[in-house]
Amino acid sequence: MNTGAAKNASHRRRTKIIATMGPGTDDRETLEGLIRAGVDVFRLNMSHGDAETHVARANMVRQAARDLRWQVAILVDLQGPKIRIEKFGEGSVELESGDHFTLDADNPEVPGDRQRVGVSYAGLPNDVAAGDTLLLDDGMISLQVQSVHGGQVQCLVENGGTLSDRKGLNLQGGGLSIAGLADHDFPNIKLAAEMGADFVAVSFVSNAADIENARELLREAGSEAALVAKIERMEAIENLSEICDASDVIMVARGDLGVEIGDEELPGLQKHIIRTAIRHNRITATATQMMQSMIENPIPSRAEVLDVANAVLDGTDAVMLSAETAIGNHPVKVIEALNRICLGAERHFEAEGGDGSHLNVRFERIDQAIAMAAMFMATNVSVQAIVALTESGSTAQWLSRVQSSVPIFAFSTNKASRRRMAIYRDVFPVKLTAECDDADAVVSDALRTLLAHGAVKENDRVLITMGDQMCRSGGTNTLRFVRLDAEARDRYGI
Ligand code: PGA
Ligand code: MN
Repeated sequence: MNTGAAKNASHRRRTKIIATMGPGTDDRETLEGLIRAGVDVFRLNMSHGDAETHVARANMVRQAARDLRWQVAILVDLQGPKIRIEKFGEGSVELESGDHFTLDADNPEVPGDRQRVGVSYAGLPNDVAAGDTLLLDDGMISLQVQSVHGGQVQCLVENGGTLSDRKGLNLQGGGLSIAGLADHDFPNIKLAAEMGADFVAVSFVSNAADIENARELLREAGSEAALVAKIERMEAIENLSEICDASDVIMVARGDLGVEIGDEELPGLQKHIIRTAIRHNRITATATQMMQSMIENPIPSRAEVLDVANAVLDGTDAVMLSAETAIGNHPVKVIEALNRICLGAERHFEAEGGDGSHLNVRFERIDQAIAMAAMFMATNVSVQAIVALTESGSTAQWLSRVQSSVPIFAFSTNKASRRRMAIYRDVFPVKLTAECDDADAVVSDALRTLLAHGAVKENDRVLITMGDQMCRSGGTNTLRFVRLDAEARDRYGI
């Protein structure tokens, strides 16, 4: 159990935190500070840094988590087919509004200047037409396409600025049709498998096949990692339902998404994506610029406080930081601030209670029906905790898809399951140590652990989901109610 989080039940944060690693997190003291302050998942961003650095960071996380006895997961984020311009002769150029500027897919290797720059994506001239808007450097610079001649896309600069080597290129409205995984992703899939990554994120997903391919390659490489679909292009919004079916986690990747579809669409889409993912029983993460000003400043802006809180109220499982921790000035402070803001928002969320949406569903699986029955009870009878004896973690996943104010303590003997559950909202993964052949002994062990950490107390009411056989995947068929009174103490020896 994340013992720090469990010690004081009223301070247990239900929303999870993903923090990106970088030069800013490389010393052991900072890393431990980040874990203590509440990071649940560390993200290794394959768009930056070399393999050796990523492996060293992953090892450092595993070691620190072991020493602190904390459940911390690792997410490897693949770069994907992000389209980028090539390099300039001088590293960068100044573009002014009204300038003519050509994106040259015929000669990607020729160094760029103020008139043109290479693009190695040969399909670009076919994907754009006169009148389209192309955005560079996360939208800082915009170009309007005037004409296309062979591989030359001739543009007018709408918003100028400094444009430097290898900046990202997006088409407003989406439709740059570059396919699934890119060549540079394949070695990183192997690397993720070697590191034992718990999550692998696929960037610029268009459809379910992108996720299925990545999953197949990961399995071939010997990885059981959960797949994260980054929703950051128009096509993914259109295919959201099939992408949810194919993935384990859905990320609202607001950086590229905002550039492709227009920032004014983001608030509505964030809610739509989270709602759709939850309906598909999927986990969600909300990413990018959540605490951007804390790259420099020691406190967040009011707008950032509201943004994080609104993501929590939207029902996201996790909030993600990028540069704030990777290269920011205050990596630990930003986690402390995030922790505080999430807790504040959750108090309001809890006041709203369950929304009843789980009551009108037909279940195909008994374990899922047990989970929903537990949540029905939890939201209608006063209970202080739910204990899920769940080997694979799937019962905990179903339980956590229903809004409630009851913490879910998910006991598993399986380390990979426990780390995966670190990202589930409301779920606190705990190591199960009891002998698996005696159900009462397992329940005793779980209750004793919770009592020892102050997560429950005398006379609390606890719901337990379990199977006939302990420590086996997919066997949940029983819902047990325990009141921690004298009789229970006798029976369970607690
Ligand atoms: P990135 O993805 O940081 O890898 O670009 C997140 C986003 O686009 O929001
Ligand atoms: Mn992105």
